[in-house]
Amino acid sequence: MEIDDEILTEFYDNRYAVQGMLIYRKASLIVVRNMQKILEENLEKAGHEPVLFPVLIPEDILKKESEHIKGFETEVFWITEAGKNKLDKKLAMRPTSETPIYTMFSLWIRSHKDLPMKVHQSCAVYRYETKQTKPLIRGREFLWNEGHSAFKNSEDAENNVAEIRKIYCNLFDGLCIPYRIHRRPEWDKFPGASYTLAYDTILDGKILQIATIHNLSEKFSKAFDITYEDEKGNHKFVRLTCYGPSFGRLLASVLNIHKDDAGLKFPTNFAPTQIVIVPILTKGNNEEVLNYCRKIKEKSDKFRVVLDESDKTPGDKFYYWEKRGAMLRIEAGPRDIKNNAVVIVRRDTGKKEIIKSDEINPKNIMEIFKDIDRNLMETAVKKFNDCLFNANSIDEVKNLAGRGIINAGLCEDKECRDVIEAYASVLGMEDAEKKCIVCGKKGKVARIGKTY
Ligand SMILES: [Zn+2]
Repeated sequence: MEIDDEILTEFYDNRYAVQGMLIYRKASLIVVRNMQKILEENLEKAGHEPVLFPVLIPEDILKKESEHIKGFETEVFWITEAGKNKLDKKLAMRPTSETPIYTMFSLWIRSHKDLPMKVHQSCAVYRYETKQTKPLIRGREFLWNEGHSAFKNSEDAENNVAEIRKIYCNLFDGLCIPYRIHRRPEWDKFPGASYTLAYDTILDGKILQIATIHNLSEKFSKAFDITYEDEKGNHKFVRLTCYGPSFGRLLASVLNIHKDDAGLKFPTNFAPTQIVIVPILTKGNNEEVLNYCRKIKEKSDKFRVVLDESDKTPGDKFYYWEKRGAMLRIEAGPRDIKNNAVVIVRRDTGKKEIIKSDEINPKNIMEIFKDIDRNLMETAVKKFNDCLFNANSIDEVKNLAGRGIINAGLCEDKECRDVIEAYASVLGMEDAEKKCIVCGKKGKVARIGKTY
């Protein structure tokens, strides 16, 4: 089911005059800031220092690593004039920040004592997308967090990759987003990386890459001359890694994976409105009911809670808040007051329960929230697993493309790959052996899917 435009507008507006650049509004910023906070806390716990680099990159710096610039060349926004002057040196709007950050790493890193050096920043990056833009998924400006780290040797760099994997998995689990990690094939890795790990989820049958981790080995440290002096006085190149999740794509995943026929649903920690209180008003004793509800609100004000005092009918209010993903509804009317009770209704199951009003406290609400999250994850995983397929022929790949992730045997020949990639992309190759469905020779298990 599609999300109502009226509701989406509460999250973002894409009617701004620059195509592909979104206005994020309150509801989406609640979700995005929350994920940013969790991610940044975990990165900083793991030794990353926050930084904030300028958005502009001089042309010569952006072009220092040749493969890298080749990968981004067609996507860069350039600034060529300022005021009334033509600039001597073009300036790029950062499409990603390897080049400016590594320029500074070469000044900051001197000795083995400076390593590891880990930094991260949450920022917007700019890419002149020529494909059709899609809000949150393919934009010309998008929000992300990027981490960049330097190490003495490849073992430390590998350990960092494992650590970042854990931090990202933790974030995506919290968002109840199922995913697969794919090692991108050689032809699809990050420009300048020795390998790329990508987190792929499935939205409406298509594959959405929500984060990547790149091991850059020594390519960038050689281009940017980032060396350190080891314990014996030898000068060596550092090993670099970089990584980033896209906040926009994570938001798109949350909105689309958890929705149902009644509207949006959120992992409770991320719901723009976690609790809504609906007073059941009848003629005569409105003030008593409202006061009772206000007390309930006070008792749950540790959460994002709304008391809907508008003059709509209770039914209209239920409908309104269900669509917006308020994950717990508390109702109270004259009869409940008499029993010192409230009715609570879960957004995920619709289950109604009458409890005593003094049972409304943060601890009990957290218990309910935990169970809602568990249920959301279970539902999402089931939906994800329903989109995993095996294919034994080209025809099957053709038919399954756009419905999820397909496993099929594929060899290393470019001709065989091109046959498959006419229908869907190769997301990664597993180590397991399997006969190539195109030529019949020995191949590996390929994971295939139509990407956004
Ligand atoms: Zn083949």
